[in-house]
Amino acid sequence: MQTGNTAVNDSAPVAVTIARGDGIGPEIMDATLKIITAGGARLALEEIEVGEKVYERGITAGIEPGAWESLQRTRVFLKAPITTPQGKGYKSLNVTIRKAFGLFANVRPCPSYAPFIATKHPDMDVVIIRENEEDLYGGIEHRQTNDVMQCLKLITRPGSEKIIRYAFEYARRNNRSKVTCCTKDNIMKLTDGLFHQVFDEVAAEYPDIRSEHYIIDIGTARLATVPERFDTIVLPNLYGDILSDVAAEIVGSVGTAGSANIGDNIAMFEAIHGSAPDIAGQNIANPSGLLLGAVQMLVHIGQSEAAESVHNAWLKTIEDGIHTADIYDPLVSKEKVGTDQFTNAVIARLGTTPKHLKPVSYHSFTEPIKIKLTPRHTAKKELVGIDVFIDWRDGVEELAKALKENSNDNLSLIMITNRGQKVYPGGIPETFCVDHWRCRFQAASTTDVISHTEVIDLLAKLADAGLPFIKTECLYTFDGQPGFSLGQGQ
Ligand code: NAD
Repeated sequence: MQTGNTAVNDSAPVAVTIARGDGIGPEIMDATLKIITAGGARLALEEIEVGEKVYERGITAGIEPGAWESLQRTRVFLKAPITTPQGKGYKSLNVTIRKAFGLFANVRPCPSYAPFIATKHPDMDVVIIRENEEDLYGGIEHRQTNDVMQCLKLITRPGSEKIIRYAFEYARRNNRSKVTCCTKDNIMKLTDGLFHQVFDEVAAEYPDIRSEHYIIDIGTARLATVPERFDTIVLPNLYGDILSDVAAEIVGSVGTAGSANIGDNIAMFEAIHGSAPDIAGQNIANPSGLLLGAVQMLVHIGQSEAAESVHNAWLKTIEDGIHTADIYDPLVSKEKVGTDQFTNAVIARLGTTPKHLKPVSYHSFTEPIKIKLTPRHTAKKELVGIDVFIDWRDGVEELAKALKENSNDNLSLIMITNRGQKVYPGGIPETFCVDHWRCRFQAASTTDVISHTEVIDLLAKLADAGLPFIKTECLYTFDGQPGFSLGQGQ
């Protein structure tokens, strides 16, 4: 991954776009910039406006059109949290930026700082690497019948390979020993199954790093109870969204976690918390989340020495018991400080390393992680059937009769499911049904290839018979293997 922005030498300033955001954003951005500048960061800052004020001007994306130009030029974005207005019509700025710039990897380190920050899990040191663009977050949703809404889950091979390779490369570079993948492929055999399969393929190329897979439910339960067993965790988007908050919460440091959103050409760095309007302007906010996001940024742009110096000074401040109110604990803290005092305390410790917490070492990182995808095999794809989804309020037997009377010679009704459960043939009266029926048509021999013309002919007949179809899904085989799931109970 080349930002095009990597420092050429120790003295060249690197252009970075910043946004001060809303609520506590401006205070913690000021603190962060002060610390990293004192720590040796060489940045040429460009400021853009994002968030509340932009939304209030009627710009639903929360970012001025002209600001994109700065991001495209600098390719590095340090963003303070923003306030997202309530109500429909406003789009999440984070999602917009992630998607527009292809920021496929969300990286969130969640280490324990015990005993200096309270946690039940003192040995925890987890990094969550979440796929950022795909899965249910495509926002492709439809209301299909009176009863049913649908959201499309898209998992792709290149998207999965990119994030999984990133996780292994990250683990190797950071001397981490294990990568865990979590999916629900016992249920979603094709989508989550693909993510798991790509994980196994990529893991085989990294024999120096252990790999394991958990079903997401037990994986989440284990992370919440024995997080010290985990190291680096790679996940599809939705599971990653949930697990990254579980990890940040149990390590006791929502106010101290930073995250990176990495793309092939552009990267965005931020704190994981929001704009905390309840404490804005009071000089009590903890700047650590944005600061640690900025540390990841410095590593990314090749200013590893500054990153290491700032991070170690911050660790020393934490272990010296200089704590903001959100992490202050009279049993371990020495001094409760405000944002400004905390900032000065970190600056005063630049050049020192922690004695109890493990010091960080980034000096060997000079380049961002680069990902190269394996060339893809194009499978032979053949059409062998069609799933026709129908809006129907009567019983399944009446539906099956109407479908059979109106199907064509080469496409027979194979089964009907309701919410995925097979209800025809051989359904049972106890199955609860809604007005949304998936009706599968295939040739008499289910491996026989059919044509799109035959599908159109079938749909025309169904339309003429007043059978309201909502949508269709083609049933393909790929190199002879079915590219579709069976109905539950089929
Ligand atoms: P929040 O994270 O802003 O605050 C939750 C609680 O944590 C509050 O009590 C707050 O005072 C405290 N807190 C958060 N950060 C802190 C810090 N650095 N130091 C000390 N205490 C801190 O979550 P919220 O209240 O649910 O959301 C507020 C706004 O932030 C909302 O508009 C939300 O949409 C937005 N938000 C933005 C981002 C982002 O920009 N990336 C992320 C999450 C939420």
